Amino acid sequence: MSKKRNSPVALIFGFILLAIVGGLVYVYSSNLFERQPPKITLDKEIEWNLKEPIKVQISDDSGLRFIRATLSDGEKSVVLDTKEMKTPEKNVDLNLTFPKTGFGANKKVFELSVEAVDASKWNFFAGNEVRAKAIIKVDTKRPELSVIGSSYKIMKGGVASVIFRAQDDNMKSLYIETNFGKKFYPTPFHKEGYYISLVAWPSHIENFSASVVAIDRAGNISKAHLPYFLQDRKYKNSTINLEDKFLDGKIADLISEVAPERSSMSKLEKFKYINEDLRKGNEAIILKTTSNVPTESISSFVFKPFYPLRNGKVVASFGDHRFYEYDKKPVSESYHLGLDLASNAQSGMQTSNDGVVVFAKENGIYGNNIIVSHGLGIYSLYGHCSSYLVKEGDSVKAGDFLAKTGLTGLALGDHLHFGMYVQGVDVRPEEWMDESWLKDNIFSIIESAKKIIDR
Ligand SMILES: [Zn+2]
Repeated sequence: MSKKRNSPVALIFGFILLAIVGGLVYVYSSNLFERQPPKITLDKEIEWNLKEPIKVQISDDSGLRFIRATLSDGEKSVVLDTKEMKTPEKNVDLNLTFPKTGFGANKKVFELSVEAVDASKWNFFAGNEVRAKAIIKVDTKRPELSVIGSSYKIMKGGVASVIFRAQDDNMKSLYIETNFGKKFYPTPFHKEGYYISLVAWPSHIENFSASVVAIDRAGNISKAHLPYFLQDRKYKNSTINLEDKFLDGKIADLISEVAPERSSMSKLEKFKYINEDLRKGNEAIILKTTSNVPTESISSFVFKPFYPLRNGKVVASFGDHRFYEYDKKPVSESYHLGLDLASNAQSGMQTSNDGVVVFAKENGIYGNNIIVSHGLGIYSLYGHCSSYLVKEGDSVKAGDFLAKTGLTGLALGDHLHFGMYVQGVDVRPEEWMDESWLKDNIFSIIESAKKIIDR
């Protein structure tokens, strides 16, 4: 019996089947036939001021072959942009502008439709198609902005207040910009649409200017300049001779406490490290802790002049620029950001106003350091404490004792380093200890603004 041979027909059929399966596998796995539609980056809802173009990003791995952007008011449609690419492009950015003709001037709401087709051979060589839509709300109206009341003047190193009205259906951000890059943020005041803010002029910045800025979601901007009378003030420059007793005593002790790995440094290097690097870190912590502004609306503000240390004698003033020398050669420099008050050793120090203890721990040159938040972005700071009478998170009442004076941190004698901060900026403590300053710059501004608002 001869062996049965495969028939030629079956063989040919087998080859054809293999070719079809192979072809299908190729089509499925090949990039040429990819099934991924293009990606369109477009927000679902856009507020448009008609000035800035609407930006749309379209991308596709196999390349884009066709795109079209159409704006429609429900009755009429206008093509804003259309492109057909001879060579497929992976990324296309559209900058859509409003058409000069085609729509009535009173139309405020539109639908934007963006279509894109890629260069894939899928869909019988037609490619993958995608369409993205966005609701466009035209808003060309700038926020309403008007100043209701403000301090008459601001002193270099000091603070001023402003109360203003800002209104927009689509308000996005509201702040006070300054010539030195710092933004101050307002607190809602009394009635909807009204705000209060304090602004500060840092003691080492030569000039000051500030404007309230209101920006809506369509990008319309309003600005109101704050016309404070600028009162210059000279701060003291002092040269301090570094003595061996201080370098070998306090500075060596502080290094072994805060940076024992640096004990092999020379005594001047140690001083430079403490007065510059350590100070910088400590002040960054204070900046972070004192930058918060409450966002709950306020209608009044009760504040007493600060009197943190009974019979405290001023031993160093705010804003001093200190230059340190050793053997008549300059070593380092720093600014003194508070008022030093001294009384008997380990005297109790008090807060004169209600608040919340937001910081109560060791902080380098400030030693045992307490910071109390009083609202409106106002903070009081107490340094070099010997012991704490409160802890972080405590609510304190005017008159409460916070701590006892001491000489922890960079302090030679027992004293209180008292600092005042407004939204992270160190300011003249003297203003906050002065009843008539408080009246002229805060209380009377609030009272007369309320009369205007309630009218
Ligand atoms: Zn001090």
